[in-house]
Amino acid sequence: MVKKVVKYFLYIFILLLIALVLKTAFYTSKQVNIKNVEIAGVSESSVAHLGMAIGFKTISNMDNNLVDTAVFRAFHSFLETAYPLVHQNMGKELFNHSALLYKIEGSNKSLKPIVLLAHQDVVPVVEEEWDEAPFSGKIENGVIWGRGALDNKGSLIAIMEAMEMLFNLGFQPERTTYLAFGDDEEVGGNGAIAMAAELEKRGVDAEMVLDEGMVITKGIVPMIEQPVATIGTSEKGYLTVELACKYEGGHSSMPNAETAISILSNAIVKVTENRPAATFTQPVNDFMGFIGPEISWPARVVFANKWLLGGILKGIYTSSSPGNATVRTTTAPTMVSGGIKDNVLPTTAKATINFRLLPNISTDELVKYLRKVIDDWRVDITVLEGAREPAPVSSVETYAFSTIQKTVGQVFEGTLVAPTLMLGSSDSRHYSKVSKNIYRFAPYQLRNEDLATIHGANEKISIENYQAMIRFYYQLIKNMQVAEQK
Ligand SMILES: [Zn+2]
Repeated sequence: MVKKVVKYFLYIFILLLIALVLKTAFYTSKQVNIKNVEIAGVSESSVAHLGMAIGFKTISNMDNNLVDTAVFRAFHSFLETAYPLVHQNMGKELFNHSALLYKIEGSNKSLKPIVLLAHQDVVPVVEEEWDEAPFSGKIENGVIWGRGALDNKGSLIAIMEAMEMLFNLGFQPERTTYLAFGDDEEVGGNGAIAMAAELEKRGVDAEMVLDEGMVITKGIVPMIEQPVATIGTSEKGYLTVELACKYEGGHSSMPNAETAISILSNAIVKVTENRPAATFTQPVNDFMGFIGPEISWPARVVFANKWLLGGILKGIYTSSSPGNATVRTTTAPTMVSGGIKDNVLPTTAKATINFRLLPNISTDELVKYLRKVIDDWRVDITVLEGAREPAPVSSVETYAFSTIQKTVGQVFEGTLVAPTLMLGSSDSRHYSKVSKNIYRFAPYQLRNEDLATIHGANEKISIENYQAMIRFYYQLIKNMQVAEQK
């Protein structure tokens, strides 16, 4: 009998082994092999232009009244001077306080428009922490310095340079092309909201919306040596709730068994101990589908056999905070308050908990889930301002995605492409009614240490990287003019 059981398990083991090997052997690459193309004509002045653009202190502020709109106007005048052909060929409209929407009509009405996004505003600086003056736009040793070099004037100016290059060569687009440059992305994106609403009102259904977000990572994706162009196909949602408990007060010499603070603490513990489960959502599945086949043995076996070894992968993801945030709706208690004196029982206690939602749950569903988990009528749950749903997931089976992939191959030799989930947010989230195909990618080539300079000190970009971005946008706009070849 024992022998039979052993034999049985041995068979199963061998079958599984064969399945693993077969699955791995047929795990085919989704990368495309494309020849680099020569793109000449990036203007000499493009470098000086980015330096000058950085010089405008277009700092955003939660309070519109505190925004220096004169600086934005000056920035607009600079754009007019630097990009005369763009301004001759494209219509320009103003939204919010300073958001810019450019448009050129395409000649082929059967092709859907494209919309390129970037934002003009930047976050404030702590000047003492910088090695160079943050708004100097200084150009030294092949590097352009300053706030906004990466976030996000680098893209904005690269897009303008690309358009100017195209018009210089007599470009007449087949597809209607929009450039939409927000003025307050860092504080909520009212500019983007206004422009997206207008496009929606005009019935624009775009073939592609491309915004900042993810980048070309160097040495960041584990087990991969090549640079990886990560394309955000969705972004996480945002929800902050306040838990509040009102309870009998009194003197602490004769306390009740429970107080507002102990009831609230219990609720916090329940919430943190019952975090939503780790899940592979579509963008992460897509990421593994694109990256897995590029990983060498034996790790590739794990990626190729998610059906069996998904648990191991989840373990790997959840073992680091960024990995965990990629596969989970995260829970972070961030503020707590209650009580007024050491010998007085508190009558109220409050806690604030911030969640970042995966694209598989809505804010309503999460609040329902919290009520169930806390299961205590004495704890009130209030949704605070600023909640937003996760962005709809854009497919990777689209003409827009494959064109981005092709363009990456044409401009950045040896770079892999991988869709992914964006943990932060971008203006593009406001465009979900303008297009189903929203991608978050600007071709900055960045290492881990560069990422820290975004919103931090010493933000800068190499001239080489910046000019490659211009080539990318130039080539992408050109590639998108052609209808999909089926
Ligand atoms: Zn940004």
